[in-house]
Amino acid sequence: RQEQYRALRDLPAVTRDGVAIGLQLNAGLLIDLAHLHDSGADGIGLFRTELQFMVAQRMPSAAEQQALYEAVFAATGDRPVTIRTLDIGGDKILPYMPALEEENPALGWRAIRIGLDRPALLRVQLRALLRAAGGRPLKIMFPMVATVDEFVRARAIVDREKAHLRRHGHPLPSECRLGVMVEVPSLLFEIDEIAREADFLSVGSNDLMQFLFAVDRENRRVANRFDPLSVPALRAFRSIAQRATAAGCPVTICGEIGGRPLEAMALIGIGFRHLSMSPAAIGPVKAMVLGLDAGAVTALIDAELDAGGGGASLRPRLAAFAKAQ
Ligand code: PEP
Ligand code: MG
Repeated sequence: RQEQYRALRDLPAVTRDGVAIGLQLNAGLLIDLAHLHDSGADGIGLFRTELQFMVAQRMPSAAEQQALYEAVFAATGDRPVTIRTLDIGGDKILPYMPALEEENPALGWRAIRIGLDRPALLRVQLRALLRAAGGRPLKIMFPMVATVDEFVRARAIVDREKAHLRRHGHPLPSECRLGVMVEVPSLLFEIDEIAREADFLSVGSNDLMQFLFAVDRENRRVANRFDPLSVPALRAFRSIAQRATAAGCPVTICGEIGGRPLEAMALIGIGFRHLSMSPAAIGPVKAMVLGLDAGAVTALIDAELDAGGGGASLRPRLAAFAKAQ
């Protein structure tokens, strides 16, 4: 199996009916970046910056943060990398920050909420990123955005930092694109507006499933109770893909489901053309892509979703379809 996947490494991921699929990696530590070369991924679709903060003994200084990002860019070279700003709080605790007493940490003070309320932390990170990316393209995305307004405020902080660096004669990134993670369901009802404002969207299906079905993703009793291949989940994913595409806004999916071949097949069927996943998933997903008739899976899913399945899962139908490919 591993040998077979290695043989696919340098093949472009194109379906049998000619649909090109971008396959990117999720990463968070420098050691993950070694997989960029051996997996054959096109780039890093999600770099979780909080991991470097979680393994540190104390809050990394501005200079240390800049050095970390310089190392990331040195390792990724010309391949694109999407950096996510700190996604702390909830299940991601920094040992050197006072723990908050919250009844519902997943719904609490976390991610972009901390970034907007305590902009000093976000500003230091953004400045370190902008400086590290001087002269090269930079893609930044914000986690747990719930409203368009939160993105607009985060973008204003980036603009201020850019102006600051420009005034001081620092080289800026050659291009700076700002994206939003779609992982809070409220954004589904503002997707046209966010697609117009943001330079790109990336669906965080781990959190989106958690909040859509009200199931704690860390609670094993309930975490697998709802299926991402069920009618409501697929309708949610399809609506994001279709409306972002209609607005001309590039859209990726970077939650764990993109790395499971059957789920990835369904995501391609409903319109996603870029998936970001763990390194070990690239081979199996690429093998699936190479054997897929994307048009046929689109027709199957559209028929099922439009017929209304009473909330049932499409998993058995999709598994049978995949077997016949
Ligand atoms: C997600 O929520 O799907 C995601 C990619 O982010 P994380 O798993 O880091 O919350
Ligand atoms: Mg998330």
